[in-house]
Amino acid sequence: MSAGLHGCHACGELITDPDDAVYVGHEPGNSGPGWDIWAHRAHVDQVGPDPAAERILLRVLLARARAS
Ligand SMILES: [Zn+2]
Repeated sequence: MSAGLHGCHACGELITDPDDAVYVGHEPGNSGPGWDIWAHRAHVDQVGPDPAAERILLRVLLARARAS
């Protein structure tokens, strides 16, 4: 079995060239292990930061705002 193809998170197209696939981050699922996020090398900038890291940062900022 091959590693499989990934879909680009930015443009929604299939990434047919494994060398062109860039791992962007992991999206945790509400009722499962979640899924990995991939993007074309040229589209990485459009995907933005790791959504998990972004969520953690948001929690920290919210907690800080409530504390003050
Ligand atoms: Zn793409």
